[in-house]
Amino acid sequence: MTRKLLVAGNWKLNGSKVMTDDLISAIVNGVSGAKNFEIAVFPPFVYLSQASKLVENKVLFGAQTVSEHEKGAFTGEISATMLKEIGCQMVLVGHSERREYFNESNQDVANKFKAAQSQGLRPILCCGETLEQRESGVTRQVVAEQITAVVNLVGIDAFANAVIAYEPIWAIGTGVTATSKQAQEVHAFIRSLLSLKSDTIATLVPILYGGSVNGSNAKELFSMQDIDGGLIGGASLTANDFLAICQQADKLS
Ligand code: PEP
Repeated sequence: MTRKLLVAGNWKLNGSKVMTDDLISAIVNGVSGAKNFEIAVFPPFVYLSQASKLVENKVLFGAQTVSEHEKGAFTGEISATMLKEIGCQMVLVGHSERREYFNESNQDVANKFKAAQSQGLRPILCCGETLEQRESGVTRQVVAEQITAVVNLVGIDAFANAVIAYEPIWAIGTGVTATSKQAQEVHAFIRSLLSLKSDTIATLVPILYGGSVNGSNAKELFSMQDIDGGLIGGASLTANDFLAICQQADKLS
């Protein structure tokens, strides 16, 4: 069974009305009509409605996080129902910046994953270790705990409609990319972890790599057996850079 490659752009706290128009239009115009891989963009909440009018069914779009709550007295939160209503198909959960700066625990992330799926949104579950954790040899343990917290809450079958993104924190926004071998090793481990529960799901779930991906290193990373595309930060903010990565996915599809 072949998994489709996915190239997903996380805009983080960047953007404007003009940038949303320009960037999404350039992506839509820059990809050929018939492509055999998926593209997704994750603009800030306030530009999602605008994005919905620009994507022309060629690009998926979603939010960078979601509330674990459905409604009520949770000032500042955005629910999965609201995201679904404006047409989002996907949502990031557990990005390392959310875990670090907003104190999201593995359990919080699992709750968000569950809330997203309850409305039919496809979550991209982010996981990954710090440099300190890698150097002390606990990468597998950290990643296993991050994923197992979600599996324990929603069950393995929920991953039939989900994506995992392995993002070593030391490679995010640093210009230091994991080597294709380092990334492949963790991706294979993630797949073996899932296969303890279900071989079918382990084979099915796309696992993206994230961390300083660009047009020059995307080909080698995406060629690895268990790497199914990328979650892109910095290089997703410029049409040419993002399209250069998409071109590599296109060639491999
Ligand atoms: C990210 O934040 O998900 C990311 C991978 O960022 P960058 O590509 O800038 O390293």
